Amino acid sequence: RSRKRPDLDQLKSGIDQCDRTLVARAITLIESKRPEDQRLAGNLLDMVLPKTGRSIRIGITGVPGVGKSTFIEALGTFLTDIGKKVAVLSIDPSSTRTGGSILGDKTRMAQLSRNPNAYIRPSPSGKSLGGVAQKTRESILICEAAGFDVILVETVGVGQSETAVKDMVDFFLLLMLAGGGDELQGIKRGIMEMADGLVINKADGKNLAAAKQARKAYLNALHLFPPHPAGWQVPVQLCSALQNEGIAACWETIAAYQEKAIEAGYFAHQRKEQNLKWMHALIRERLEESFFLQNNIRGKIEELSESVAAGELSVRHAVAQLFSEK
Ligand code: GDP
Repeated sequence: RSRKRPDLDQLKSGIDQCDRTLVARAITLIESKRPEDQRLAGNLLDMVLPKTGRSIRIGITGVPGVGKSTFIEALGTFLTDIGKKVAVLSIDPSSTRTGGSILGDKTRMAQLSRNPNAYIRPSPSGKSLGGVAQKTRESILICEAAGFDVILVETVGVGQSETAVKDMVDFFLLLMLAGGGDELQGIKRGIMEMADGLVINKADGKNLAAAKQARKAYLNALHLFPPHPAGWQVPVQLCSALQNEGIAACWETIAAYQEKAIEAGYFAHQRKEQNLKWMHALIRERLEESFFLQNNIRGKIEELSESVAAGELSVRHAVAQLFSEK
């Protein structure tokens, strides 16, 4: 399949004008694994960098079925109604296995995907979560340069991807369900601890009473966590994404958080820390890559492993040999 070589100036001016077709093409360039594309993507990122950083980046997570896509559809539509431009990106490393991911399903967020002030991008494919997260981080920058005011980063509430998202957003929102009496089960304490806001979805009809109960239980559980570094009281709110109730209140919470975190100096601090953490992760990744690219390194490791297993060589010396024999 032949492909026209992307023209960086054209992509840059397309991004400047928030041309969604060219924004999409820029992200495709970023996601490309070809070395030449990667070099161009790096140049493009440098070109747009001065225009990045002006959005609020919001992570949204929750177990499958909690109502993430319904919630994002409702919140995204609310935001475009108040004049914001919204980009939705997703992290779903499982998409490599299935080809088409849960998050990439075209029928999700049907209304928002037709909204001229919204842009929805399914998860990039990739073998490692780190690789997928890297592409999403860079896609955030492209969307910001294109003038999107709110970036919603969605992830499925399974596995490690929550941490990856937490490390790239300003506000991390956990969607939950009320479940008779066992509210705190099935949701990992660690994920709850990362949240800047908790929202109990499906607080409608017969579920409403249980949702109110669950809210109390979650508030109690939050008391046991260490204080939020921005001096913020993590709220627990109720909403019905399906009936479009409580959506405006969720946005008010996020806006209030942003104001408070900026004032406390935490907003900028967190972004700086996230950027540095990303840089160090990349350094480690590159080191590992170049180490394993060495001639017959895996063979040598295997050989040494046998000696170590047989008790003929200490681990210390085995590793030392790997680093001296170049
Ligand atoms: P996701 O897997 O987290 O993206 O969840 P979906 O948004 O696909 O929603 C899963 C199911 O829950 C769908 O059948 C939705 O219609 C339903 N759902 C989502 N939000 C609500 C809500 O607020 N109330 C009710 N009753 N159902 C909801």
